Amino acid sequence: MNRNARFEKGSGVYTCDFCGKKTRETGCGESSVHLCVYCYELGGIENSRDDGELTQEEFEAEKAALQTRFGVNKERDARRTASITAGV
Ligand SMILES: [Zn+2]
Repeated sequence: MNRNARFEKGSGVYTCDFCGKKTRETGCGESSVHLCVYCYELGGIENSRDDGELTQEEFEAEKAALQTRFGVNKERDARRTASITAGV
């Protein structure tokens, strides 16, 4: 992955480092970490779970809601998981 690619905040298409989807900034700040909004938001709730703010059940419900909201299928979520496991 080329982390040095230049892009202007709020404009331009880039590829999510985790799931590989071509995406663009939606205003959540996800372009600053080179992720799509799904991977970015999911990272946030994973942190909440890891910090004990969400139970595993609450986390699963939030994750399912994000997948519905952003139209994420199992393949895309699996790519994200594989990238994180591989240490991207
Ligand atoms: Zn992504």
